[in-house]
Amino acid sequence: MDLTDWLSCAGCGMLVYRKRFDRMGGVCPDCGRHAPLTAEQRLGRLLDPRSGTTVEPAPSVHDPLRFEDLLPYADRLDTARSRTGMDCAVRVVRGTVRGRGVVVAVMDFRFLGGSMGTAEGEAVVAAAEEALKHRLPLLIVTASGGARMQEGAFSLLQMARTSNAMAALDEAGLLTITLVTDPTYGGVAASYATLSDVIIAEPGARMGFAGPRVIEQTIRQRLPEGFQTAEFLLEHGLLDGVVPRAELPQVLQPLLALGTPAEPGWGAAVEDPVIRYPDLLPERPAAQVVKLARDLGRPTTLDHVAAWGGEFVELRGDRAGADCPAVVGGLTDLDGLPVMVIGHQKGHTTQELVRRDFGMPSPAGYRKAVRLMRLAAKLRVPVVTLIDTPGAHPGLEAERHGQAHAIADCLRVMGSLDVPVVSVVTGEGGSGGALALAVADRLLVSENATFSVISPEGCAAILWRSGEAAATAADALGVDAPTLLANGIVDGVVPEPAGGAHVAPEQASEVVRDAVVCALRELREQDGAALREARRRRLRWFGTYREKVAL
Ligand SMILES: [Zn+2]
Repeated sequence: MDLTDWLSCAGCGMLVYRKRFDRMGGVCPDCGRHAPLTAEQRLGRLLDPRSGTTVEPAPSVHDPLRFEDLLPYADRLDTARSRTGMDCAVRVVRGTVRGRGVVVAVMDFRFLGGSMGTAEGEAVVAAAEEALKHRLPLLIVTASGGARMQEGAFSLLQMARTSNAMAALDEAGLLTITLVTDPTYGGVAASYATLSDVIIAEPGARMGFAGPRVIEQTIRQRLPEGFQTAEFLLEHGLLDGVVPRAELPQVLQPLLALGTPAEPGWGAAVEDPVIRYPDLLPERPAAQVVKLARDLGRPTTLDHVAAWGGEFVELRGDRAGADCPAVVGGLTDLDGLPVMVIGHQKGHTTQELVRRDFGMPSPAGYRKAVRLMRLAAKLRVPVVTLIDTPGAHPGLEAERHGQAHAIADCLRVMGSLDVPVVSVVTGEGGSGGALALAVADRLLVSENATFSVISPEGCAAILWRSGEAAATAADALGVDAPTLLANGIVDGVVPEPAGGAHVAPEQASEVVRDAVVCALRELREQDGAALREARRRRLRWFGTYREKVAL
């Protein structure tokens, strides 16, 4: 056995055949540890062969303070340069990933711990400017211990400098993505790493502002297992996803394809299934519809999106401490037209329902929705929402975190979007928790869905002082599709398979899809500002005698 053919994994200590380890991109086949990659290795794995053109940052002052600790900083820099063959800790390249153009800035931890000095800041700014110039997405791969002490306040200022370079990309509507690798700390974490539209991390990668040692010394406690790891950050709403190295191209490709325009005549072949006259709908007791709307066999938001057939990149987290399981969202495409889908998520079994909080969102759910709506507006992508909730979660934690504020913000932001917005109430449309996702240019309701200010049971208990009056209350509230349509609350009704959506869920999803495509086909021809104005005008006169005149 030739020992040089083998290496020992720093995670589990197992001997790994080097060729296999390399083939897996530096991932241990036993424990899955993602070993650090050099910038060169990373670019080699990410970019299509021979697609890369190096972007040269402007020359920077390299030792502004003539700093000396145990060694002169200038000597440390020389050593890092000769060891890595790099000028600074960041390499910037413009190239393609599976044929899609992108500018990539990659940090190399070997270069003084990936610390951020003036040259590194300059490289990140140059990458952002290159993306701006070519109107390409920017992908940043981070690995850093934080700011470089030897450059003093010059280093500190790089946080503001790079953050504002990111702001320019927001203003230009260009997608930014961060891939967090282990470790990403301090000034890099608190600037460009966390400002990207989409933040994904490699399994086990740690990210934070203060390092674990500093925190432990400050609070004088041991930190819990897994603190600040990618999995921890995902659970706390600070990441969109944890993606193993091998799956990265699959996630990046649909994201990088976002800018591609849909075919001319997009959606022309789809027949509009939406019913616009209440007379065409059967009359039934509202209580019967309420029961159907709650059937656990009805397709959920994730079922609909899966049945629609596009690549779906789920985006998670409110970026403020939580990821609500009762609201899901992400980017997908409808026959090549990118859309941001956001919806309530229930489940088909008790276990799923418990995991999804029965489709009752926390404030974090509405904050995630707002984040994704803003992202859609930035990227000029239409928003599609699917509504199915008994209502927003009533509880101590929800109140403590501003449930009312979060719902109100959703109502305002959604109405203010200058991209097309289509909403479909696919199940239960329960009160403010439902309306928060329903401020649309076209509001549709599924044939057996409901939309109501309060649950019939709640209304009966309060006004009739008896839960037994729920059926009467349901009728009185006008929660069913024909009444909603007749009252002008919704614009149309999406038919369901005979017996209800739960009888043939995939078929039901297809009809919802066709309805959405037909609404978008019309709306996407219109100017964004005009759409917003029409949405606002309609809300302005809603329920008044002037409503019909205004429309
Ligand atoms: Zn291992």
